[in-house]
Amino acid sequence: MLPRTMTAPEGTGTYDVVIVGGGHNGLVAAAYLARAGRSVLVLERLDHTGGAAVSTRPFAGVDARLSRYSYLVSLLPGKIVSDLGLDFRLRTRSISSYTPTVRDGRPTGLLVGGGEERTRAAFARLTGSDREYEAWRRFYALTGRVAERVFPTLTEPLPTREALRRAVDDETAWRTLFEEPIGVAVEDHFSDDLVRGVVLTDALIGTFADAHDPSLAQNRCFLYHVIGGGTGAWDVPVGGMGALTDALADAARAAGAVLATGHEAIRVDTDGRRAEVAYRTADGEGVAAARHVLVNASPQALAALTGDTPPHPAEGAQLKVNMLLERLPRLRDTSVDPREAFAGTFHIAEGYGQLAAAHAQAAAGKLPEAPPSEIYCHSLTDPGILGPDLAARGFHTLTLFGLHTPARLFEQDNDATREQLLAATLAQLDAHLAEPLADCLARDADGRPCLEARTPLDLEHDLGLPGGNIFHRELSWPHAQEGTGRWGVETRHANVLLCGAGAVRGGGVSGVPGHNAAMAVLEAGDG
Ligand SMILES: Cc1cc2nc3c(=O)[nH]c(=O)nc-3n(C[C@H](O)[C@H](O)[C@H](O)COP(=O)(O)OP(=O)(O)OC[C@H]3O[C@@H](n4cnc5c(N)ncnc54)[C@H](O)[C@@H]3O)c2cc1C
Repeated sequence: MLPRTMTAPEGTGTYDVVIVGGGHNGLVAAAYLARAGRSVLVLERLDHTGGAAVSTRPFAGVDARLSRYSYLVSLLPGKIVSDLGLDFRLRTRSISSYTPTVRDGRPTGLLVGGGEERTRAAFARLTGSDREYEAWRRFYALTGRVAERVFPTLTEPLPTREALRRAVDDETAWRTLFEEPIGVAVEDHFSDDLVRGVVLTDALIGTFADAHDPSLAQNRCFLYHVIGGGTGAWDVPVGGMGALTDALADAARAAGAVLATGHEAIRVDTDGRRAEVAYRTADGEGVAAARHVLVNASPQALAALTGDTPPHPAEGAQLKVNMLLERLPRLRDTSVDPREAFAGTFHIAEGYGQLAAAHAQAAAGKLPEAPPSEIYCHSLTDPGILGPDLAARGFHTLTLFGLHTPARLFEQDNDATREQLLAATLAQLDAHLAEPLADCLARDADGRPCLEARTPLDLEHDLGLPGGNIFHRELSWPHAQEGTGRWGVETRHANVLLCGAGAVRGGGVSGVPGHNAAMAVLEAGDG
């Protein structure tokens, strides 16, 4: 029986491929497969597609369309955009980052971006010499070489570890990124605590780990943060993350895929050749049959669907806050224009020592005393996400991503802990502002401040992310390991593949696992 809201492709009662989940990766897979002539059904549990890559108007009566969860793009290969003919653009940010601090009792900060000479001068002003800037250039030249060589492999069959090492062709870079805890390189290269912290943050986004964690989870996170596009640049999706999802959904539909929202898969039965996917809607239950099943939902959800043992969970550790401001706040550091400071990644309480302390406190079961976070203002680079009236009045969006607050800290009382953490996080920001952020917040139609905060448990509830992990599971090395198949999407069932962030080389808004699962199906050549 087919879902009631749709019709089967002409002449068939079943599909070549059923995709469980209409996140951006499920849509990438759907678009590739439908364009290759396969009949495709996407089952999405929510009433909209996109998963964690969506834009919404979260504040009642306010015409501001925010990237609600993910907000910057780096890992999406241009090849996917061009293969699928997506009407989707990225815009570079004028400033890479700003980090406020206090030195010798005076507010100051480090502005990275705006050209080489300006960045060099900013480092010299903060640290008193060119040493840290030269170290910065050397370090990012190393990661840049790795990026150029590793990024193109993400959409190819999974290389062996040795093949990837040969491709990197730089033993120092290999040791630095793939073998030694990233804390070693950060401490070897840099001596300034603030500079060390700025570098380390890329290893901690969505990953609860210390700089010296022997698991190297922080290295994998760092790697995915510096290889995107072969440069590691993080760009602004024009129109917000929802513009990407909309373009992908359009491409999938135009090629003939059926997107069924409000359809939650509840069971997958397979003999390795044919599969049936049972699903639930508001009106009842149904079953769709297919040659292949692609699962965009998490590995945990996949195990629940097939009745297999779930993999070891890796909880998320972030606070996500969306805000709308009537104006950008003034800074204590008057040498920087807020329109530049907020255009890049604005680091708060992310000194190297602060990050280590926050991690240690959270690992001991307490909220960090000075919660680290980073913020960025989308509307400075892409004003089109605001209605014309708000844009004309100088309103701006602000996105905050907090680190080192694992899901377990919220288990006792999610609401109270969310409020406590939010207050502590905003106090860290306020310490660098010449006026409290609260004074700058816009109000919605009911007079409430335009601010929404989401903990890992909220994200688990809203999006089905296991433990609120933004990458579905701990990120993997981008090479073969024991048990990984040709594309890194294979499962123990021959005709069931992962096509989401939980696949090898998944995580982030990349479309990579969606592309790779589609390639695996097309290579099988049988539907
Ligand atoms: C707060 C936050 C900030 C982030 N920031 C960034 C960022 O700036 N840049 C970046 O690159 N990445 C970022 N990420 C990570 C990135 O968003 C995710 O890794 C990526 O979106 C995962 O995409 P996906 O399609 O694989 O999975 P998801 O987006 O998780 O989509 C999975 C889909 O499957 C559906 N589903 C689940 N179970 C079922 C079922 N049983 N039946 C039917 N449907 C089901 C879900 O509803 C969902 O729509 C962020 C994530 C979060 C949460």
